[in-house]
Amino acid sequence: MGYEKVWSTDLDKLNKDELRKLEKDGLEILEDIDKYAKEGFESIPKEDWSLFKWAGLYLQKPKEDGYFMMRVNIPSGLITNEQAEVLAGIGRDYGRDVIDITTRQAIQYHWLTIETLPDIFKRLESVGLSSVGACGDIPRTIMGNPLAGIDPNELYDTREIVEDVYRFFQRNPDFSNLPRKFKMSISGNVHNAGHDRINCMSFTPAVKEIGGEEVIGFHVKVGGGLSAKPYLAEELDVFVRPEKVKEIAIAITSIYRDYGYREKRHRARLKFLIADWGVEKFKEKLEEFVGELPTKGTCKLEKWNGGYFYGVNPQKQEGLSYVGFNVPVGRMSSDEWFNLARIARDYGNGEIRTCNTQNLLIPNVPNEKVEDLLQESLFDRIKLEPKHFIGYSVSCTGIEYCNLALVETKERMRRVAEYLDEHLDIDVPVRIHMIGCPNACGQRQIADIGLQGVLLKNKDKKMVEAFEFYVGGTLEQDVAQFNNKLKGKIEAEELAPALTSLLRYFEENKEPNEVFFDF
Ligand code: SF4
Repeated sequence: MGYEKVWSTDLDKLNKDELRKLEKDGLEILEDIDKYAKEGFESIPKEDWSLFKWAGLYLQKPKEDGYFMMRVNIPSGLITNEQAEVLAGIGRDYGRDVIDITTRQAIQYHWLTIETLPDIFKRLESVGLSSVGACGDIPRTIMGNPLAGIDPNELYDTREIVEDVYRFFQRNPDFSNLPRKFKMSISGNVHNAGHDRINCMSFTPAVKEIGGEEVIGFHVKVGGGLSAKPYLAEELDVFVRPEKVKEIAIAITSIYRDYGYREKRHRARLKFLIADWGVEKFKEKLEEFVGELPTKGTCKLEKWNGGYFYGVNPQKQEGLSYVGFNVPVGRMSSDEWFNLARIARDYGNGEIRTCNTQNLLIPNVPNEKVEDLLQESLFDRIKLEPKHFIGYSVSCTGIEYCNLALVETKERMRRVAEYLDEHLDIDVPVRIHMIGCPNACGQRQIADIGLQGVLLKNKDKKMVEAFEFYVGGTLEQDVAQFNNKLKGKIEAEELAPALTSLLRYFEENKEPNEVFFDF
């Protein structure tokens, strides 16, 4: 397989980000950070600001103040207690005590200064963590099954594959200049914990009869993605054995690198290439890279669990449980993280897992220790059995830190969810996702109720924060769909009562246990 860059676009048609990337590769910023740290924020040329993304850093709002947001990759959400302690320490020492879990199982900081970055990189590296490639036009962290290796509902333990694929792409200069970001998911969980259809490329559990034997492996979907023009990933007619996943991942990423669009940035994601080519042509191209592949076998995905794993649950290892908790809108303090690391070490084997619903779980707890673990005061706030709104609310970063945001999201989502929990008592959870702009970091499109921030001129002719409502999103197999927009916009101040009316109608007209999507 060759990795020569056969980009299909003439130089004079490349967009300005492409031209900048040709002058200076995104990964080269890593070589400059020490120097900038010594010389201060003012020494950083403005044209380098966007390249910090390759190091997992964005300038937070307002950019001129020189504070960075950092994302740390947590492939498949697997963290050790040593790593958790380092993450907690960074939050305490440099991040004003704010540590967020993202919808791709990553960890996110705010308030970092250029002077602190060398020490932060050193600390992360000391425990095998990295922020490199967490942002930028590069393969991002790999989303996966947070229960990998302990999951009674996994067809295949994907830990080694995820680690291998992640290490291959980390700081790999052959893949540091993709047309845009590239999002992967590799999961063996039959309840679709990897959110297959919203990723650029996803591997999902499957079996196939080969030579009279049933072989366990994966199906592959390509071309999913959210933002302003969302697409559901489509399945390629291939079956991939576990030992071939890395090769296929490299080939698909190479095709994207070499044939993805680089003229208009808003058309540069893989989803647009797939929409134009179709999956048959894409499969032909894939087979040019890797040779003929077996056709699809039998998909082993069952009911979608939305990415939720609350409560005490048996592992596939007898006598051990994993315990899933709700982190309200994914935000915790450093002290809570230190405490979490200690609890994971004292009661389990030190591991912690992050979920794409911004929650976490502690695995490998001997059954006889579960009761004691649950007495820990940390779990007064981070609850095992959360209420039906705060427990199923997801939010992006929003205007507090994000330069693209139109409205406040995180704290607002928390307040609104708590209001709904006080005023309504519905017998099923309702998944509500809030985002502050069309970029959809909070995955608005797959929610039961999606709330997208906009600005609105009110009756006094003042611009105010408001929300569009979308209903009925799901990644349920065969019926996966993005939510649909309702007419009109609601001013932010009216959000909680408006949601209460909508949900009261649902409550009064639904069958017992009927969920929002089926309604
Ligand atoms: Fe920022 Fe928009 Fe992403 Fe929210 S969805 S974090 S506002 S870019």
